Amino acid sequence: MNLDNQMIDLYAVIVFLSLIASLAYMIVQAHIRRSKRVEVQRVVSVIECCGKRITRQFSKGDYVGKEVECSECKEKGRIIAIFVERIEAGKKKNL
Ligand SMILES: [Zn+2]
Repeated sequence: MNLDNQMIDLYAVIVFLSLIASLAYMIVQAHIRRSKRVEVQRVVSVIECCGKRITRQFSKGDYVGKEVECSECKEKGRIIAIFVERIEAGKKKNL
């Protein structure tokens, strides 16, 4: 009987410790996620062609009004905008 109680105590201690461990793990993970939330910037060029707007990464020499090859139809498209896109690292798409 006494042994059973000790076993239960031991079990309670293990459960308690694992709870503490998982809590600590969650705190560490949350901290890492927060510190990882670094804004990534990239410059993109918007090309108008095929009746739509195609966004691609800015390449050296790009300027608004420049004629560039459309990545879809290989015809001449035109850069209509260049802007800096901010991407939050680890950001979920469905937000
Ligand atoms: Zn095109």
